Amino acid sequence: MTYDNNNIFNKIIKGELSADKIYEDEKLLAFHDINPVAQIHVLVIPKGKYLDYSDFITNATSADIAYYFSKVAEIIKILGVDSGFYRLITNKGVGAGQTVMHFHTHIIAGDSLPNF
Ligand code: AMP
Repeated sequence: MTYDNNNIFNKIIKGELSADKIYEDEKLLAFHDINPVAQIHVLVIPKGKYLDYSDFITNATSADIAYYFSKVAEIIKILGVDSGFYRLITNKGVGAGQTVMHFHTHIIAGDSLPNF
């Protein structure tokens, strides 16, 4: 599969679609999920064009990978749930439920998270 420049998240990065952003810098963006499954549901995306976790972990630089995951931790703190509980999910591939083919991590938190 090749990366589609017209995917929704790339449109948000390019400013062609709006999003409820909570953090942005030159390398990544975090925004509220449009269809939250819990009280807090935030997506963190790198601005680089990676299809999914495998693509990111294989093709991004070690520095960019470290930066991304340290920022995920920072955003969890911004959300105020670092000392509470939360769930991190990244769906890789359609069979796992990936619907947007631009790598992203879900941060999900709230009073009671459904088991799966
Ligand atoms: P996944 O199913 O793991 O690929 O996750 C994609 C997520 O993107 C879903 O939870 C959607 O609700 C969310 N989503 C789709 N379009 C938008 C959008 N325009 N703004 C914010 N979140 C979105």
